[in-house]
Amino acid sequence: AEPLPSPADTRVIVVANQKGGVGKTTTAVNLAAALALGGLKVLVVDLDPQGNASTALGIDHESGTPGTYEALLDGVPIADLVQDSPEAPGLSVLPATIDLAAAEIELVSTVARESRLTKALRAYLRENEADYIFLDCPPSLGLLTLNALVAAKEILIPIQCEYYALEGVSQLVNTINLVKGELNDELQLSTVLLTMFDARTRLAAQVTDEVRAHFAAQTLHTVIPRSVRISEAPSYGQTVITYHPESVGAVCYLRAAEEIAQRGASKEESR
Ligand code: ADP
Ligand code: MG
Repeated sequence: AEPLPSPADTRVIVVANQKGGVGKTTTAVNLAAALALGGLKVLVVDLDPQGNASTALGIDHESGTPGTYEALLDGVPIADLVQDSPEAPGLSVLPATIDLAAAEIELVSTVARESRLTKALRAYLRENEADYIFLDCPPSLGLLTLNALVAAKEILIPIQCEYYALEGVSQLVNTINLVKGELNDELQLSTVLLTMFDARTRLAAQVTDEVRAHFAAQTLHTVIPRSVRISEAPSYGQTVITYHPESVGAVCYLRAAEEIAQRGASKEESR
């Protein structure tokens, strides 16, 4: 991989879309690996009790493994909980286990319940460097996702190239605006990535045009195709980038990461 430019300040990016199965986790782990392979320091925070991001990055996360739960509920420093991913040097992961499912309920009765991740990441960044922090959310708009939206500066929305793709997105945009107004002024929708593109269907091309019309500045030029290699990689505890580096899926995620790195955090562009 080519060396990539590091941003002036840590870019905290939440990968969000309340729909499940749209490629959030796949996007988070592959972009994280690509940026780390480009020489950058990257942290992935797994906020989904399913722990799919942890799995895909080759991280142990059986029940009892300390991780996101301990950071959010017990105040354990993130630096004491992260594990190095074998996928790339400079890539570390705050793992999630099934125990995190309880956090959604337990957080309700804690103080500053929506800013626990913000606080934990701030403390982490006082002593540790990171160029990128990716927050991988569960497919719901509960307190775990809210913590991510409050902690992040940027939102990346993966959009699946299929029917009704934009419908769920408008609901998400409403939530973003609500969070922006009440809890996090800095939050901006910086990036839209089209995923699971099937070049054989006319529908996919239509959705792509629609999304580009709607999110002209934010949509990356690179589109991620539907690819068997991408879906196989997690069962080997890998990203597609190390699993099949020559595959079209790997090449596209590397390109998408490069676009993101080159754009920097350019605020004007994404408004
Ligand atoms: P989410 O995190 O939004 O629930 P995932 O990233 O877990 O979505 O993706 C859902 C499923 O689709 C997974 O089985 C994943 O391996 C598969 N998948 C994701 N992106 C692609 C792609 N570009 N081509 C083929 N399968 C994909
Ligand atoms: Mg997921």
